[in-house]
Amino acid sequence: MSTDDAKFGEYGGQFVPESLMPAIEELTDAYERYVLDNEDGFMDEFRQRLADFGGRPLPLQHAESLSDRYDTEVYLKREDLLHGGAHKLNNALGQVLLAKYMGKERIVAETGAGQHGTATAMAAAHLDMPCEVYMGETDIRRQRPNVFRMKINGAEITPVTTGRGTLKEAISETMRDWATTVETTHYVIGSVVGPAPFPRMVRDFQSVISEEAREQVREKAGRLPDSVLACAGGGSNTMGTFHHFVDDEDVGLYAVEAGGSSLDVDEEEGVAPNSASLSTGEQGVLHGARTKLLQDSHGQIMESHSVSAGLDYAGVGPELAHLVDEERVDAVNVGDDSALEAFHRLSQDEGVIPALETAHAFGYLEEHHDELGDLVIVNVSGRGDKDLETVLEETEKRDLDVAPDMSVLRAAAGGGGDL
Ligand SMILES: *Cc1c(COP(=O)(O)O)cnc(C)c1O
Repeated sequence: MSTDDAKFGEYGGQFVPESLMPAIEELTDAYERYVLDNEDGFMDEFRQRLADFGGRPLPLQHAESLSDRYDTEVYLKREDLLHGGAHKLNNALGQVLLAKYMGKERIVAETGAGQHGTATAMAAAHLDMPCEVYMGETDIRRQRPNVFRMKINGAEITPVTTGRGTLKEAISETMRDWATTVETTHYVIGSVVGPAPFPRMVRDFQSVISEEAREQVREKAGRLPDSVLACAGGGSNTMGTFHHFVDDEDVGLYAVEAGGSSLDVDEEEGVAPNSASLSTGEQGVLHGARTKLLQDSHGQIMESHSVSAGLDYAGVGPELAHLVDEERVDAVNVGDDSALEAFHRLSQDEGVIPALETAHAFGYLEEHHDELGDLVIVNVSGRGDKDLETVLEETEKRDLDVAPDMSVLRAAAGGGGDL
């Protein structure tokens, strides 16, 4: 891989310790041979397994109520219907299969909200590979259902106690493991982040989303969309949904970040009450790549915040950062309240309960539909079953226009009431 292929403009690169370089070089070679050149039919097997195990292709659904509401044709790309309930399996399955082709015997992964760990544990069980998942202790407490799911699929969970015990520390710990075990082990990174070749490779595995959606929209609507929306944490569903539209100059691409409770930053506390690294971040290096980061004026990485755990990350993929600088992608953001309202609206109007991450994209649609043209695709990156407890709690705290009346649950929990 030439240095140019490791970068996206000024972003990306391979900022890793010397001890990791052999692993990065071996992976780069495998990515080029198996993914780019389809050696030994790797991509054919990947596609077949995405179909049989994952359930692809997935529908592009016309959303009738939303189309009426906004007087705009709205289509939903239904990644929530992928096995596991989110787009994550596209990447996890691709990387675990690649590890097999490379002759590796063990998988390590990191997880924050637990969605990527769950997808990796599923893919590893499916392909009969032992799997160890690093997870911050705080996140283990916050994300119990996903911890269960990983254990049930046979994964080992290793708690990470450094720092705040969340995703950032879990990634660092997984990289340390990998540096000492590279001969036998592949690190399945969870988004379009990390050193090259990860951002390109993860994008390629996820780009099945836009490959299908581009075909489907031409079939169903007879033309390309005016706008495509996807939520952005690390940016893997975003890049996957955008990839085949990037060269279609008339198609607007909107990466919707978590605006959290505010875009203002408390420097003293080292906290950003949002996860809007594309909209508000500055250049810096994190987890092996140069990208846009939430950092203070001394270059310290700040804690991020979002009501949705899957968007709660201080960095973002380098390719997305580059496309925003090039003005090919619009970086926009939506706050916690608006995401929660969108969650309820999509559930009530369309019968689709979205992940809280996904709900941010629908919050943007609600606020800006009149700027998005007549034909819009929104990626439904995942389903919301994992978020129901959080939604209940967060909805109770607020005075939202569209929330259902939950008093029946309160009454039942109190032991009496009107059930
Ligand atoms: C993990 C996750 C995200 C955020 O990750 P990206 O890499 O930005 O896609 C978004 N939606 C869902 C449902 C997720 O599980």
